[in-house]
Amino acid sequence: MKFKKYLILLILPLIFIFSGCKNNSVITASKNLSTYTIDIVYNDDHTLTCSQTVDYRNNTDTSLENIMFHLYPRSFRQGAKSSVISSLNYNKCYYNGVSFGDLQITKLSINNNEVEPEITGNDEDIVNVKLEKNLNPNEKLSIYFEYTVTIPNINHRFGYGDDTINLANFYPIACIYEDGEFVIDSYHYNGDPFYSEVANYNVNLKVPSNLVLATTGNIKNKNTDNNITTYNINALTVRDFAMILSDKFSIVSDKVGNTTVNYYYYNNQYPNEAIKASIDAVSTFNRLFGEYPYETLSVVESDFVHGGMEYPNLVLISDMVDVQSDYINVIIHEIAHQWWYGIVGNDEYKYGWLDEGLTEYSTILFYNENPEYNVNTSELIKNTTNSYVTFVEIYTKVFNTVDTSMNRKLNEYNNESEYVYIAYVKGMLLFDNLHELLGHKKFIKCLQVYFEDNKFKISTPNKLVNAFEKVAKCNLRDIIESWINGKVQILEIK
Ligand SMILES: [Zn+2]
Repeated sequence: MKFKKYLILLILPLIFIFSGCKNNSVITASKNLSTYTIDIVYNDDHTLTCSQTVDYRNNTDTSLENIMFHLYPRSFRQGAKSSVISSLNYNKCYYNGVSFGDLQITKLSINNNEVEPEITGNDEDIVNVKLEKNLNPNEKLSIYFEYTVTIPNINHRFGYGDDTINLANFYPIACIYEDGEFVIDSYHYNGDPFYSEVANYNVNLKVPSNLVLATTGNIKNKNTDNNITTYNINALTVRDFAMILSDKFSIVSDKVGNTTVNYYYYNNQYPNEAIKASIDAVSTFNRLFGEYPYETLSVVESDFVHGGMEYPNLVLISDMVDVQSDYINVIIHEIAHQWWYGIVGNDEYKYGWLDEGLTEYSTILFYNENPEYNVNTSELIKNTTNSYVTFVEIYTKVFNTVDTSMNRKLNEYNNESEYVYIAYVKGMLLFDNLHELLGHKKFIKCLQVYFEDNKFKISTPNKLVNAFEKVAKCNLRDIIESWINGKVQILEIK
């Protein structure tokens, strides 16, 4: 995610920071993944009527007696414990007054046997599916849901605004099982509170024909009858699935390698600049990190309270970003997330800095590779460093202490500002430090090995260290850990 708008309120120099593959490597369906088949009807009253079959594959090494699924729309419901937005952005998000969303399961069956859904989790945001018989490693079973989704009127990644209907995190998605339990962290207004594994998706969507669809994956079929359009969408080996609908979209497209990039917009006066930046970003990151393995990427202007948000094959760019250079910066940031979050996954709740820090630093690498964007990255790093030093000074003055450790869960930060400085700013400076230590060539090689070793998998800070040490052939663990545990001293640059 990009917190650009929020940062303007903080320290001005930070505005900037926050503000295809070859034919033989395009992804094909993997039998070793779970498959989600979802039938969705979009209703005029901003609800969805859905049925969903999850052919769940046990990819753990444990025999499972239950499977848990996140029900993120329930965090938007009336009576939910935690707010989906910080108080600072509340009015901008709920611009029409408070509005609630929800997800209600009406039917649940396992291998065709109907069972009662057990709603659990810290905020009643998880469904626990108990199995009659344990599911052994590498075995599959079929779980069937019927449910209705209520979309709230909110400028958020899940919600509808005046221009777009944002359908992200709207369906039951399997929790990750690790260290002997399912990870069931609840939604949090800080950062991107999501954590999921790659899977295959086959989605059928019925919508009024005046709505234009931007989506994860490829539209395989489109039929219109009686002003209702039915789409069949296929997405393979993706970490999540999201769609944006609007009756206002214009589209401009271009191609890089085997990837078609579509830019959907309704407000931007400079669509050609946006599509060019998108193409330049994919092209640059293909070259630097390893190739984007999907056939589509949708860059979608939308009603969204923060600067932008990443989903597989689809990024949201907020229509509230009104300075064109910031808008371009958000596009580059969100596209970098396709590599760091999308292809190489991580627990965004626990290690937000891992994808945000590297994504922020990827924008620096982009500007270095593309001098025509006229961004002085040395100046940017200097301003960023000094902003961070100021953050530490102010926090120390106000609170007598400052926690600069990085491996904190989203709900362990005191506020949004602290999260931004630690995950984005300090995260980015960590990668700049490694860049400086290793030199450009070796640093890029480290990122390529990190990408290759972890693509379609889940990374951790430890796996980052392993990849970097494998290339650098020296001890980097102590340095990286000193950044993570808050011991490193960051000094002002004069
Ligand atoms: Zn981000």
